Amino acid sequence: METVHIDGSTGEGGGQILRTSLALSCITGKALHIDNIRAARRNAGLAKQHLVCVEAARAICDAKCRGAVLGSKVLDFQPGSIRSGDYHFDIGSAGSASLVIQAVLPALFLAGQPSTVTVTGGTHNPMAPPFDFFCETFLPAVAVAGFQADCRLIKPGFFPAGGGKMTINVQPWEENTSRAIDPFDFAQGRLCEPLEQPQIYARIYTAKLPAHIAQRQKRLLSQSGLDLQDIEHVEVTDSAGAGNCVMIRLCSSSRTTVFTAYGMRGKPSQEVVGEVVAQAKDFSAGGAAIDRFLADQLLIYMALSKRGCYVTNELSTHLQTNMEIIQKFLPISFNVQRHERAYRICCHPAS
Ligand code: AMP
Repeated sequence: METVHIDGSTGEGGGQILRTSLALSCITGKALHIDNIRAARRNAGLAKQHLVCVEAARAICDAKCRGAVLGSKVLDFQPGSIRSGDYHFDIGSAGSASLVIQAVLPALFLAGQPSTVTVTGGTHNPMAPPFDFFCETFLPAVAVAGFQADCRLIKPGFFPAGGGKMTINVQPWEENTSRAIDPFDFAQGRLCEPLEQPQIYARIYTAKLPAHIAQRQKRLLSQSGLDLQDIEHVEVTDSAGAGNCVMIRLCSSSRTTVFTAYGMRGKPSQEVVGEVVAQAKDFSAGGAAIDRFLADQLLIYMALSKRGCYVTNELSTHLQTNMEIIQKFLPISFNVQRHERAYRICCHPAS
């Protein structure tokens, strides 16, 4: 069995290197040896979320692995064949449920039958895709390329208490790819043009916090200079702990982009709202089709389609590192062209 050697300290040096490597090991059947896992993070090695990613990948392809313990910086992973099924994983912390799903999702799209994955953990936590982004931005974007799945928030879980739950139903990829669509052209250029006159909405989540926080954030949002159609307040009463995040959603008929900033003790609402408003304004001014987070998360799907392009507003280190890792597993090449404030990311079969 061929083994792909990955240095987890490459570029961004975070968990995405592990998730991408696990996903592509399951898909290609190549064994994975990864060391220096999350070397660039303060708590290097496998944290709970990453350990559950390994366990999840092991479960869906009946893999053998060594080094799957908390804090481990080295992992050997030998995949078997991918099995669809009804899977349940519990992170046991506020570690991101959507990132655990992202570790197994590419492989489950390639399984012969539909699957369901339910994850308990954080659904709204910093440095990860919140449920709303996962459901409204990420899944519709992969669906454009024939990867169909729908997800549901069972219970919100905020950092640091966690205890949230989300579930996803995954359909096999080939069965969903319309014969009219060239399966090798990811998204058919539909992720290359900026959103046309998006409607702008805001959403505030608060859990177990005094009412004045959401009221203040509402006031700040309405003074932000954005033409907001509506400000929705979701008050969560059944979460395991306190939580707050503010989202701005740019919605057009073809897609939605969700930006998020998190409130936390000692961080003034002005800063929280200022952060998310700046993200939305910066993106809107840049002429890109997709934001920098979606750009690094879509890369693996474009690589599975072998050919395609999309236009993003930032060449993040996550994106650059992910390109490097994917090219170690798959016979494809990426290239990047800069057009003023936007970057066109293209993928084609390696020559
Ligand atoms: P890593 O830091 O390597 O574990 O990767 C974090 C992942 O979370 C990357 O794929 C980011 O694109 C994603 N991410 C971080 N913050 C957000 C956010 N606010 N919205 C959507 N995705 C995010």
